[in-house]
Amino acid sequence: MAQSHHYPPLPPMVTGIRGKCPRCGQGKLFSGFLKLAPRCEVCGLDFSFADPADGPAFFALTIMSFPILGFIWWLDATFEPPLWVHLVVSLPILILACVLPLRPLKGWLVCSQYFHKAEQGRLAPKDEP
Ligand SMILES: [Zn+2]
Repeated sequence: MAQSHHYPPLPPMVTGIRGKCPRCGQGKLFSGFLKLAPRCEVCGLDFSFADPADGPAFFALTIMSFPILGFIWWLDATFEPPLWVHLVVSLPILILACVLPLRPLKGWLVCSQYFHKAEQGRLAPKDEP
């Protein structure tokens, strides 16, 4: 049975960015661009625990907005281009820079969630210490 195997802890940064299962590091984490697979096809880990919500979007925007807006500001200040240049150059760069990191960031957050056993807070029954 796959559940009885011992899995050494894998760094979430490595497994997450590669889009691999946080437990075995072999199976695929995603079934689409951002859609998580229901479970790992190698070790059977159920991915229903994973809920990064809007975390990947927050990190993508926070990380990418400064360099990209800096570039757009530099482009505008240096060349004073017409508006269509920004529509053709700046807008696609801005969209790509924010969309492309979503998948590795989501993988990293899901794998970190598994690694640190993070879950929704809940009230403990009175008889539990
Ligand atoms: Zn797995």
